[in-house]
Amino acid sequence: MPSLPPALEAAGARLLEGGLDIDRDLARELVRLPDADLPLLIGLAHRVRVARMGPAVEIESIVSAKTGGCPEDCAFCSQSARHASGVERHPMLDTSRLLALARRARETGSTEFCIVVAVRGPDRRLLDQVCEAARAIRAEVGIEVDASLGLLKDGQAEQLAAAGVHRYNHNLEAGPRFFPRICTTHTFEDRQATCRRVTAAGMELCSGGIFGMGESWDDRLDLAFALRELEAREIPCNFLDPRPGTPLQGREPLRPLDALRCTAMVRLVNPDAVVRYAGGRELVLRDLQSYAMVAGANGLIAGDYLTTLGRSAELDLAMLADLGMPPAAAPLTRGARPAPR
Ligand code: SF4
Repeated sequence: MPSLPPALEAAGARLLEGGLDIDRDLARELVRLPDADLPLLIGLAHRVRVARMGPAVEIESIVSAKTGGCPEDCAFCSQSARHASGVERHPMLDTSRLLALARRARETGSTEFCIVVAVRGPDRRLLDQVCEAARAIRAEVGIEVDASLGLLKDGQAEQLAAAGVHRYNHNLEAGPRFFPRICTTHTFEDRQATCRRVTAAGMELCSGGIFGMGESWDDRLDLAFALRELEAREIPCNFLDPRPGTPLQGREPLRPLDALRCTAMVRLVNPDAVVRYAGGRELVLRDLQSYAMVAGANGLIAGDYLTTLGRSAELDLAMLADLGMPPAAAPLTRGARPAPR
């Protein structure tokens, strides 16, 4: 029986036996393994996920509570007012509508319900509306409420935390060297600052990125390590679905095997986070949906995304049953990241 590649041996020893993290040099060696060794890399990511976080898969539903018209210029985003993407705008949904959607999310197995608003950052009125909805949903539905409202200013994270918001989503989207190529209206450091406000206010940070925008493997490693430094408790892995009218339209989608390599890398760098498949998984993973669940991920977004359709929650639940992976009955993280031993 041939022995494992040395990088896999070393990563397994640190992550499985030592309860430790891996460093950048080792992570770079792992992503450079040839395709022939990819099943071994994926296998290690899966073992680390089960050893560090258990077998359950956390399901989340997201709602686009206000769609389109964002003044920012993120190149991948069909909700930017600067791109002629044809996304239909709608104003903020009211609390009764959000309550109904949260109930539906709970019924289909979600433990997290994320209210997403396409803005640079919330004004006072919007923040009050989201806090009112969060309080109502927590009182009446029994599901955790998350929010994604863009860049936060002083005091805003505290207001959301006081309303009982469990996680705040603010994706870094890309590593610091690549970020200026996809956004010029705010900086990577602006996004980092909001992420820090989230954790300081006592909410869990949900922050991830998009793979397949033209970034290098070094850029992807930059992103994964930046997320570890911020102690992201949930990491959404999006794969670019090049939207018509955006500057990234026409870009070739990521190879499915590279999407799995990205997922495994994110897990191995962030062993104690919920790593969640998010937008683009149907387009990019195609027939590899169930195989992708043994690449280190332990979270799914069920149903539709913000401006694109996903597959049904029922199909995902059937897939998890076939895989012997129970849907989590409660969020898989609570509070700060445990210190590596
Ligand atoms: S800030 Fe958010 S909603 Fe606005 S363009 Fe960027 S990604 Fe889209």
